[in-house]
Amino acid sequence: MAQSFGVIGLAVMGENLALNVERNGFPVAVYNRTAEKTDAFMAQRAGGKNVKATYSLEEFVNALERPRRILVMVKAGSPVDAVISQLKPLLQEDDMIIDGGNSLYEDTERRVKELESTGLSFIGMGVSGGEEGALNGPSLMPGGTKAAYDSIEPIVTKIAAQVDDGPCVTYIGPGGSGHYVKMVHNGIEYGDMQLIAEAYDLLKNTLGLDHNQLHEVFSEWNTTDELDSFLVEITADIFTKMDEETGKPLVEVILDAAGQKGTGRWTVVNALQIGVTIPTITAAVNARIMSAQKQARVAASKQLSGPTAKFEGDTQAFINKIRDALYCSKICSYAQGMELLGVASKEFNYNLNLSETARIWKGGCIIRARFLNKIKHAFQEDPNLPNLLLAPEFKQTILDRQTAWREVVALAAQVGVPVPAFSASLDYFDSYRRDRLPQNLTQAQRDYFGAHTYERVDKEGSFHTDWFHAD
Ligand code: NAP
Repeated sequence: MAQSFGVIGLAVMGENLALNVERNGFPVAVYNRTAEKTDAFMAQRAGGKNVKATYSLEEFVNALERPRRILVMVKAGSPVDAVISQLKPLLQEDDMIIDGGNSLYEDTERRVKELESTGLSFIGMGVSGGEEGALNGPSLMPGGTKAAYDSIEPIVTKIAAQVDDGPCVTYIGPGGSGHYVKMVHNGIEYGDMQLIAEAYDLLKNTLGLDHNQLHEVFSEWNTTDELDSFLVEITADIFTKMDEETGKPLVEVILDAAGQKGTGRWTVVNALQIGVTIPTITAAVNARIMSAQKQARVAASKQLSGPTAKFEGDTQAFINKIRDALYCSKICSYAQGMELLGVASKEFNYNLNLSETARIWKGGCIIRARFLNKIKHAFQEDPNLPNLLLAPEFKQTILDRQTAWREVVALAAQVGVPVPAFSASLDYFDSYRRDRLPQNLTQAQRDYFGAHTYERVDKEGSFHTDWFHAD
């Protein structure tokens, strides 16, 4: 009996997805470049299951029913090309390769073209949810031809996370759209994480909350319609974990230097390329870069002092203001991410359904949150909504809470606590809601030094002034 699905790459994600597929009734064949990992997987996790271990790509390909459906879960970048080029000569027409790694969408565009020109199918599929999601139900973002998606739909709809309105998977669109949407999902994830980190910094270092109080605050926030989310939930949990060696909260002995694998940076670079402003997400990427300059910051901290102002006032009232600032900033961050998707959809002809995109993020993935229901609804009501800030679900909320948000950003500046994502979000809001920005002066300068011309507010046309000669 041939196996109905193949998985190449047995690191955490590949192992867990293979087990998820098998558990849902599809016999699986697996292959990993390093045979010892295959043996360990079979001995420790796949014993007694309908999983066939193979030790060469030939054996792997021969173990699969046709047309073959092969999920590649290897390190993103050149390893994906290496696996594809080894597989290609062994495959037959209509066989399909699914790249489930965090590939750059431009690489996926290239691979789709290369493989489809040879009669093979290729799907670039974003997978979110980490190892736990991969095992029990991730959010899946598959892009490629619709026909290719249809042939894996029975499998992906079963292995994906299930929420009240269906499985967390949908056909995203052609070419590299699946990996594009996953990239922006990760950019939004960077934004969410940075905003939570800033709230923690203010609660701890300005209001003086200890780890027990931090646990209580985040637990309480996690019960609210606005902030109930996986990331707030795990944040509350993190404050309960003590370090066995020192007896301190574990989070306080963790080095404050954040890592990154590139998807946040790719989001920012692409947004710049296609002309969409995503300052909250950009601030989050920058904050990770700054955090990684640990030695430089330690040295600077001995020379550059800041304000000595302290918070004075009602602590509980200010905790609520931080909650409001967090929510307003989060709305801005999602407004930016969704606008990026909307513009990219037109730019790359992806024809994305933003309501469905928000829906498949409701479960399985790292940014899963109750408030995604509101985003889903907003784009359902108006698929051409220019910006989430204008949706009835969000407009009044942000107008009602902006005073608190401003107080939080102002206090942070007074006490010298950096809140780059809170303030970038507020700047975004203030820029977007202004009918006149100071770039009239920028245009005057450009025309002054470079004869770049300008438009006028009172008549049509393109104008240039001879700035050098007095009237
Ligand atoms: P990983 O550490 O990114 O990659 C390890 C796997 O890649 C191993 O199976 C390794 O084989 C294989 N590999 C590396 N170079 C290879 C090459 N030249 N030829 C063949 N195989 C090669 O594994 P992962 O964390 O499970 O992630 C897999 C993919 O999913 C990545 O693209 C990752 O970004 C993405 N992803 C990860 C997560 C997560 O939470 N970890 C979440 C979502 C998406 P050997 O054992 O032989 O070295």
